[in-house]
Amino acid sequence: MKRIRQIKKTMKSKPVIEGAGVRLKRVFGNPEVPLFDPFLLMDDFHSENPEDYMAGFPMHPHRGIETITYMLQGAVEHQDSMGNRGVIQAGDIQWMTAGSGIIHEEMPKESKSGLWGFQLWANLPAASKMMPPRYQEVLAKDVPVVTPKAGVTVKVICGQVLEAKGPVRDIVTDPQYLDFSVLAQTTYEYDVPSGHTVFAYVVSGEAFFGEEEHMGSCEEVLLFGEGDTVKIRTSDAAVRFLLISGKPIKEPVAWYGPMVMNSQAEIQTALQEFRNGTFIKSGRSVGQEDRLDRQKRER
Ligand code: FE
Repeated sequence: MKRIRQIKKTMKSKPVIEGAGVRLKRVFGNPEVPLFDPFLLMDDFHSENPEDYMAGFPMHPHRGIETITYMLQGAVEHQDSMGNRGVIQAGDIQWMTAGSGIIHEEMPKESKSGLWGFQLWANLPAASKMMPPRYQEVLAKDVPVVTPKAGVTVKVICGQVLEAKGPVRDIVTDPQYLDFSVLAQTTYEYDVPSGHTVFAYVVSGEAFFGEEEHMGSCEEVLLFGEGDTVKIRTSDAAVRFLLISGKPIKEPVAWYGPMVMNSQAEIQTALQEFRNGTFIKSGRSVGQEDRLDRQKRER
C-alpha cells in the first residue's frame, strides 16, 4: 500500500527587500532551517513595476550552495567569475553550483510583461561544499513537457516523469524540480522518493494537497511529511504549482548571507578570503574589480 504524504507545514510568502533594493517575496529561508533540508531558501520575484526590481543584485559572492533560477516572465542579465554571461528569459533555467566560490551579478531587465521568477537555494553536503563551481543554463525549448494523465501537464526541469528526463542533471542532492499544471476537477497522485523532502509552491489557482486535502492557494508553500506519493485534487479551479524534492543532507548549517557552510570557522575563512582576494579558487578573477573597472569606464 502506498502511503500518501500528509501536509506537515504551510506558509504564505512574505515581502522582503534583497540585493540592492529588490522587492520580492520569500517563500522560506533562514528561520525555517532545517525543515526544508536540503533546500535553504526560496524567493518568488513577481512585479509589473520596474521600481521593484531594477536595482537588481550587483556583484556578490556565493560559497557552499547551488542556486536555481527559473524564469516565468521578463529577463535577467547575469555575469560571473567563471566567465559566463548572458540573459535568462521566460521559461529558461539557470542552475549554478557555487561550490568553492563564485562572484556574480544578476540584473533584471525592464520588461513590459513584468518580471516573474523563482530562485531556490539547494545546500551542498560537506564533501561537495568546496567543489569547483559549475553552471548549467537551459533554454525554455529544451524543457520537456509531459501529460501523465488527462488534465495534468508537467514541465520537467530536473528529475524524471515517465520517459521525460529534465535537462538539469548531476545535482548532488538528487532533486526533482517539476512545474505542474492541473485542470479543474482532476485528482492526481505522483510518486516521490520516500525519505526525500518534498514541497509544493502554488503559482496560481488552488488545489487540495496531501492525504487530508489541505487547501493550498496562490503564493503558499506546502511541505509534505513522510510517505511514498503526493496527492493533488482540484475542485472548480485549475492550479499551477512547483513540486520540488531532494535528499536531506542532515549536517550542521552555518549561514552568513550568500555563503552557507557547516561551521562558523568556515564562514570566517570565506569572509577573510573574500576580503584579501583569494575567494575564487577556479575561474576568471572578475568580480569586484571588474565592476570597479566598468564604473570607471562609465564615468
Ligand atoms: Fe546570487
